Amino acid sequence: MKTFRKLLILALTVVLTACGTTNIVPLTGRKQSLLVSDQQILSLSTQQYSEYMATAKASNDPAKTAMVKRVGERISNAVVNYLRQTGQAADVASYNWEINLVQDNSANAFCMPGGKIVVYDGILPLTQTEDALAIVMGHEVAHAVAKHSAEKLSKQMKAQYGAQALNILLQGQSSMWQQIGQAAFGFGANSVLRGYSRANESEADYMGLIFAAMAGYNPEAAVTFWQRMAQNSTSSVPAFFSDHPSDEKRIANIQKWMPEALKYYKPAQTVTNKTATIKSTDLKKTKKK
Ligand SMILES: [Zn+2]
Repeated sequence: MKTFRKLLILALTVVLTACGTTNIVPLTGRKQSLLVSDQQILSLSTQQYSEYMATAKASNDPAKTAMVKRVGERISNAVVNYLRQTGQAADVASYNWEINLVQDNSANAFCMPGGKIVVYDGILPLTQTEDALAIVMGHEVAHAVAKHSAEKLSKQMKAQYGAQALNILLQGQSSMWQQIGQAAFGFGANSVLRGYSRANESEADYMGLIFAAMAGYNPEAAVTFWQRMAQNSTSSVPAFFSDHPSDEKRIANIQKWMPEALKYYKPAQTVTNKTATIKSTDLKKTKKK
C-alpha cells in the first residue's frame, strides 16, 4: 500500500511538472513556466477585485479621475495594438480593462490580471505630471501583461503543495482554491500583487517604460520621477516601493533602456500636462501624514 501511495505521488508530480505551460513574455522574450491558466487566474483575481471595489471609495475629483482614466486608456490601447501587431493578442484576449482612481493616502497603484487598474490618489502628489503617472501605470500594466502573478503563484504552489497542487487545479473552485485566491490577490503580506521578485520588478520597469512611450508619454519622465522618489524616501515610503529595486539601481537601469524607449515615443499632440500638475501645497500635505 505504501509503495502504491509513493508511486501515486510520483505519478502526480510527473503530471504536475508536465502540465505546466511555457509562456513567452512580450517585449523581453523571456520564457516562464506557468501552472495556472489565464482563466484560473482570472477567476481568483476577479473575485478579489470585486470585493476590493465594493469597499473602495472612488475619488471625487473629476479632473484627476479623468486624467487617470485617460492615461490608463492610452496605455491599454497601446499595449493591445502592440500585441496584435506582434501576433500575441491572445495574451490579453480575456481582458476587460477597468481604470479607477480611489481615495487612499498611500502612494500606490496596481493592475490585476484582466486589466483591472487601481490608482490611489496618494500617489498623485509624487507623480506630479501625466507623463510620470504613465510611468507608474505602465509599470503596473506590465506586471499584468507579463503574467507575473501567475508566475509567482505557480512557484508558490510548487513549493507549498507539491503533488497536491494538481488536485487543487483539478478541483477548480474548491474551498482550497478560494483560499489560494484570497492569499494571492488579497491585500495581506503574501499577496502576489505585493511581493514580486526583483527580476519581475525590473522587467515591469523595462516594459512599463516602453508601454508609456508607445502611448505617447515621454519616457524620460521616469528618471525625474524616481529621483523625486529618492528625495522623498523616508520611513513613510509605501509598501508599493519597498519590494522594488533600489532607487540608484532603478534609475541606472532606466537610463540604460532610455534610447530604446525613445524609439517608441511619438509625443501625442492633444495632451497637455497643465491639468496634471499637482500644486506643491498638495505635496506638503501628503508628506505630513
Ligand atoms: Zn512593481
